[in-house]
Amino acid sequence: MATEHFDVLIVGAGLSGIGGGAHLQERCPDHSFAILEGRDRIGGTWDLFRYPGVRSDSDMYTLGYAFRPWEGAKAIADGPSILQYVRDTATEHGLDAKIRFGHRVKRACWSTPDARWTVEAEHGGLTVLLSCNFLFMCSGYYDYAAGYTPAFPGVARFGGRVAHPQDWTDDIAYEGKRVVVIGSGATAVTLVPEMAKKAAHVTMLQRSPTYVVARPSEDAMANRMRRFLPQRLVYAVTRWKRVLLGMYFFNLCRRDPARAKAMILGGVRAYLGPDYDIDRHFTPRYNPWEQRLCLVPDGDLFRVIKSGRASVVTDRIKSFTEKGLSLESGEELEADVVVTATGLNLQVLGGVELSVDGVAVDLARTLNYKGMMFSGVPNLASAFGYTNASWTLKCDLTCEYVCRLLNHMQRRGLRQCVARNTDPTIAEEPWIDFSSGYVQRTVDKFPKQGSRPPWKLHQNYARDLLLLRFGKVDDGVMTFSSPG
Ligand SMILES: Cc1cc2nc3c(=O)[nH]c(=O)nc-3n(C[C@H](O)[C@H](O)[C@H](O)COP(=O)(O)OP(=O)(O)OC[C@H]3O[C@@H](n4cnc5c(N)ncnc54)[C@H](O)[C@@H]3O)c2cc1C
Repeated sequence: MATEHFDVLIVGAGLSGIGGGAHLQERCPDHSFAILEGRDRIGGTWDLFRYPGVRSDSDMYTLGYAFRPWEGAKAIADGPSILQYVRDTATEHGLDAKIRFGHRVKRACWSTPDARWTVEAEHGGLTVLLSCNFLFMCSGYYDYAAGYTPAFPGVARFGGRVAHPQDWTDDIAYEGKRVVVIGSGATAVTLVPEMAKKAAHVTMLQRSPTYVVARPSEDAMANRMRRFLPQRLVYAVTRWKRVLLGMYFFNLCRRDPARAKAMILGGVRAYLGPDYDIDRHFTPRYNPWEQRLCLVPDGDLFRVIKSGRASVVTDRIKSFTEKGLSLESGEELEADVVVTATGLNLQVLGGVELSVDGVAVDLARTLNYKGMMFSGVPNLASAFGYTNASWTLKCDLTCEYVCRLLNHMQRRGLRQCVARNTDPTIAEEPWIDFSSGYVQRTVDKFPKQGSRPPWKLHQNYARDLLLLRFGKVDDGVMTFSSPG
């Protein structure tokens, strides 16, 4: 089969893939590239998720691209506005024509003698082969095929509707109905106040609590500055303000967890009052930022609980019944609709099978280099965002670095780059140090990080900025060659 060749192939047309395309266009104008997207639309996460109230849970000044100001009034934006922002970015940068929709990448094989990847994608029931010098995986971090649902006993006998937020469809009617949302993560805290606007009552049923922090949905200072300062300046200033505040709070959580915990719980108490059982429903067993914090804009979750339209039950499910759920405490929860906001199935590199010179790559046995490449895997990078800050902050830096790397190789006529660890004192550590169930379920399939740079993931924008924007590309760990 004839193969079409590109300098770079990007996999995924979500926030990261579109960002990757824009960066390539700007910084590597003479590199040919295409974007392979498994679905038929741009936007990834922001197109896939359609559940009521879907929104960001970090602010758009940092979830937006560094190169394209977010101009919306809301800092915590709704899903459709974010999707529009991604689409508009693609159009402005002329990327629509670069995207091959309906191309699901299944396999990528690196050949050292040819210094290229052969990429196998499924398209309309056929296998399409393409090749590239560099593969840039912007495929997100979870499986698009299905969300995570635990095996709940008795679910088949439940007379109502059960829905997972990842498969939301418009025919899921909940107006005037009793709704139970199972979960306590970002999706659950989004769904509860939104569904409570129409439902008879919404119960958030959680096995254990999560830290929930209320923040204004708008950045008043940014909106004021916009009246007399250029958008770009306001965006840049607000982005840095948000980055620094986020880093300060994350460090406070790590340095003085008791104080951070008291601050968060104080915030909850201010909304729910002294009589509410905050210990039971909003006080996790772990310290703040050992798992992702949940943000609720303008305290919408707390307001709806206070109003009585929603409530929280902290208990374990014994089984589904005909009418709802039976809990381990003996309580019965009646429901017409049960939403299983029980999470995602994490997936590495879009499920693509990789091989290098005929040997299958086991990513779990690789070390992650600078948070984007993998030891022993040549000419491949992946866009993977922060766990403690907005995804795009890291992806923007990753894209910048990939462009620097490509330009460095082009200038020196080099065709292959691969990170190799030759230091035996580097200890392996899990890639993500969250104790959350969704991380623990799959972390053994993920690459490892090392105990020191460039293998260490600091989850820190300022450090990464120095490393990725200004650090040497030829750092002694990345090895370059020109096979053949
Ligand atoms: C509901 C929800 C809310 C979120 N809110 C925030 C937030 O507020 N802040 C934040 O920082 N993060 C948030 N996240 C994380 C979010 O996913 C990222 O911020 C960001 O959207 C990820 O962009 P991405 O392009 O890297 O991945 P995705 O959005 O997942 O896009 C990946 C794209 O790659 C395609 N793809 C995957 N595998 C293949 C393959 N093998 N072949 C071809 N195409 C493939 C997919 O079809 C998809 O279009 C949220 C996630 C969810 C689910």
